[in-house]
Amino acid sequence: MYQQEQTIVLQQKTAVWLLSVNGGNTTEIVSADIETLKDVLRFHEYRYYVQNDPLISDAEYDSLFKLLQQFEKENPSLITPDSPTQRVGAGLVNDFVKVAHLVPMLSLENSYNATDLLDWDRKAKELAGLDEIEYCVEPKFDGASISLIYDHNLLARAATRGDGVVGDDITLNTKQIKSVPLSAKFSGYGIEQVEIRGEVLINKNNFKKYNDKLIEEGIPPFANPRNSAAGSLRIKDTAEVGRRNLEVFLYHVSYAANIDNRKPVISQQTELHEVAVQLSTTNNGQPLTHSGMLEMLWHLGFRSPKKEMKVVRGISGVIQYVEEFEVKRDGLPYEIDGMVIKVNDLGLQEKLGMTSHHPRWAIAFKFKARQGTSELRSVEFQVGRTGAVTPVAKIAPVLVGGVTVTSISIHNEEYMKEKDLMLGDTILIERSGDVIPQIVKSFPELRTATGSSIQFPTECPVCAHPLFKPAGEAVWRCININCEAQVVERIIHFVSKDAMDIKNFGDANVRKFYEMGLLKDVPGIYRLSFEAIGKLEGFGKKSIDNLQTAIENSKSQPLHRLIYGLGIRYCGENTAKTLANAVTHLLDFRDLSEEQLQNLEDVGVKVAGSVYRFFHDADNLRMLEDLEQLGISLKNQKKQANISNSLSGQAFLFTGSLVQLKRSDAEEMVEKNGGKILSGVSSKLNYLVVGEDAGSKLEKAKKIQSIKIITEEEFIKMLPT
Ligand code: AMP
Ligand code: ZN
Repeated sequence: MYQQEQTIVLQQKTAVWLLSVNGGNTTEIVSADIETLKDVLRFHEYRYYVQNDPLISDAEYDSLFKLLQQFEKENPSLITPDSPTQRVGAGLVNDFVKVAHLVPMLSLENSYNATDLLDWDRKAKELAGLDEIEYCVEPKFDGASISLIYDHNLLARAATRGDGVVGDDITLNTKQIKSVPLSAKFSGYGIEQVEIRGEVLINKNNFKKYNDKLIEEGIPPFANPRNSAAGSLRIKDTAEVGRRNLEVFLYHVSYAANIDNRKPVISQQTELHEVAVQLSTTNNGQPLTHSGMLEMLWHLGFRSPKKEMKVVRGISGVIQYVEEFEVKRDGLPYEIDGMVIKVNDLGLQEKLGMTSHHPRWAIAFKFKARQGTSELRSVEFQVGRTGAVTPVAKIAPVLVGGVTVTSISIHNEEYMKEKDLMLGDTILIERSGDVIPQIVKSFPELRTATGSSIQFPTECPVCAHPLFKPAGEAVWRCININCEAQVVERIIHFVSKDAMDIKNFGDANVRKFYEMGLLKDVPGIYRLSFEAIGKLEGFGKKSIDNLQTAIENSKSQPLHRLIYGLGIRYCGENTAKTLANAVTHLLDFRDLSEEQLQNLEDVGVKVAGSVYRFFHDADNLRMLEDLEQLGISLKNQKKQANISNSLSGQAFLFTGSLVQLKRSDAEEMVEKNGGKILSGVSSKLNYLVVGEDAGSKLEKAKKIQSIKIITEEEFIKMLPT
């Protein structure tokens, strides 16, 4: 698309624009300049989204984009429909209007092995009256098909496949796909109007990230990237479409109208070839082969499978290439479900024609299925480490994509209902690439009278605590913190560095003590029998002493650490600090309403609900009382001891290694006493505390007169005793 000289020129222009952004000198821009800025942005979109080889950073791109947005705001008359800014901010789509394709979108005939391909080749040769045919082989992208119309070089319309004749107008959503150019110079090929076809994909990485997010939020994930791409094209919020990071491959020109010889809308696929022939006779340079078309699309700035395709003479080369590609399948960043073999010569395509279902000049070669059917035998309810209860189906073993699947997640109750699942059902499952297997659907029509519905439990299957489902969430949870299914992970969290910080404990010891029956719940930490531990292998007197001291010291940890350690859902370290400051004793939370909680800084509905439930759960309250009995402080020591404010208004920074204090403890002391910690040396800094081997911060601070440079000793003396 961009020649080397163009690339150099555009990169030079980029540098100039970036300079002007940084220098802020951008007021004197004239309209001609804006066009070059658009060119620069289009060029970088192409490098990033089509070539996958960006030349500038995301931040640099954003700064140029914002610049263009600002100009256009000041000069609305200069906004063109293909401006890079016109992809965004389209708002909400109310309804998808039905639109007719210029040429119907047909299906493809399928083949599954070399014999099928040999048969197909033989028939094609017979029909063509040739001994050998040249084919173009390319991946069969597993996404959602899309049809684009460009009119006078501008993207005029995008549509889904629909029933093949009529689809949904998804123009606004399609503009969110950055590898779809908003304009392309078809006029250079003598084309005034063109309809091109392709596949919208979501790459495996983004798919996985997106599904993980859904699962985390308790929303059922998509079964495969194909469903996810198709679903994404029909979202009503265009901005959300943008966030899905869809990609596209364009692999077919289905219709092209000559500039001087524009035809009315037509419904024959063959029309393209007439146009092609006409154009070639008028010497407009339009390609006469399918591979030539893909090259043309590539040169126009589209992402076509130019690099993935292969032109071969004769079917044996085809067979070799599809087999090669099947091996590569899992390593590709996107899903393909096979290859498509197309007769390369457009004239010959025309001669072979089509059936009502598929063209005779193309065939799909399907890779080994990654779907399989099985029987849903039973459902187990598993309790995850955050208390989420997940139904897991036990199914009749089935081989899918080389892996035997015997159990499969049903995610949550809603999903179970949506998929209409009953015990004994025949189900279709799929495993795409490295994605965990998913249920695609059930077949209710195959159900016998013996089918029985699946009962979702009301009590935790592990500890029998009543299950709870927060409003607006799909997942039932067990909120008993000592539930056996959760307790190990909870104890690990409780003792961790950012929570109660019990040194020498660690994941491995928690697990070991739990398995030995020495530790059953959080209060159990404070009841550990050191005598029993002493009998375990690898525990000498010294390590037991250390552990005992660490446990003892943790009893007086500040309240926010305890709150964080409890692992209340949605309650991170910062929320824990806010909560700790709101009470003088932890059990005061029993008396706070959800509204009162919501009045705290940064506490929203979700957090308030979760905290409220935690402190209104009888088991949790009993456990907290237990902890207090064992000597753990539930008091807000800061409020009690009133040690605050002696450093109020003073900003501190530490450099070098401290000898008596840990850096993080020292910082905490500053904050406890009302002081602030800065991130760097500036005139706002009051004290630089210098430890051993202090570095550049010290040099910098020496240059600022107002900063007091003090030692660790001096710092400690400043603290209240
Ligand atoms: P099928 O849905 O199995 O009948 O297969 C036809 C579909 O394959 C088309 O509608 C396209 O959406 C899709 N497809 C994916 N890659 C290609 C390709 N390279 N050439 C043609 N069709 C493709
Ligand atoms: Zn439980």
